[in-house]
Amino acid sequence: MPGFVRTTDRLKRRASLLLFFCSYVLFTAQGFAWGPAGHRWITNRAMDNLEGPFQELFSNHRSTVVQQTMGPDYRKDQDPEEPSRHFIDLELYGEFPFSDLDLNYDRLVDRLGKERVEKNGTLLWAAQRTFEKLVEAFHRQNLEQILLYSADLSHYVGDLHQPFHTTKNFDGQLTGQLGIHSRFESELVNLYLERVPFLKAAPTDLGPVMGQLHEVAVESYQWVDDILRVDRRVVSELEIDRKQYLGKANKGKKYPDQYFKRLFDEVGGVLENRLNQAAYRVGCLWWMAWEKAGKPDF
Ligand SMILES: [Zn+2]
Repeated sequence: MPGFVRTTDRLKRRASLLLFFCSYVLFTAQGFAWGPAGHRWITNRAMDNLEGPFQELFSNHRSTVVQQTMGPDYRKDQDPEEPSRHFIDLELYGEFPFSDLDLNYDRLVDRLGKERVEKNGTLLWAAQRTFEKLVEAFHRQNLEQILLYSADLSHYVGDLHQPFHTTKNFDGQLTGQLGIHSRFESELVNLYLERVPFLKAAPTDLGPVMGQLHEVAVESYQWVDDILRVDRRVVSELEIDRKQYLGKANKGKKYPDQYFKRLFDEVGGVLENRLNQAAYRVGCLWWMAWEKAGKPDF
């Protein structure tokens, strides 16, 4: 009967709305990482940053490591804990610079419970554990694992350099800028990666790994507002109607080329910074793991 909705129908509708919302959150939380082009660039350039005997050893396996660098994203379907390993929502740990974030995972879980820590994202610890596994693999001179964990480490450290992997507003969904995550990390990268210069930087010892990873997260976070501001301005100046890019019917529809041109003009420097910093840190961490294991042959 029109105008009359039974309570059960209302509940059903509410449940399906909730389901829609949950699947949106799940989809968006799981579906993101630098696109394959960005991750491969970071891994290749990290390899180019290496020097001396380590570079010689490692370069023999370049294509295997580069090929495996998307592995952690592909594992999301098999391992229920994997999706959380690709982000950290820093705002859930208080005001900037997020001092409620205890970098000791066990202590943090004791304080907040595992469920909440997982929900807030475990990227920092995923990267730290992968570094430790890589040291172990070097120790054992297990080539297969060396290559696997090197690729994994490049992936996680790459994600950590993507500003939208460090914020709860990971897709602009809280500020009416839905889709910014992939516009920045995939569409912009696919169109303009060739124009991003590579700034070669030899590996150095970064000091304590967890402290360094935390610094990277906070550094990445500081770009979020800049990118959002530019997106808002360009959308308004080009009079883009965001609604035309939302919903199932518009899935895959891209913002106009002009938008990306303007975005690159304004945040190309951010892209250059994040990709090059990622390549530098990945190179450093590979090299540090190898040093820590006593510089073995492999
Ligand atoms: Zn990822």
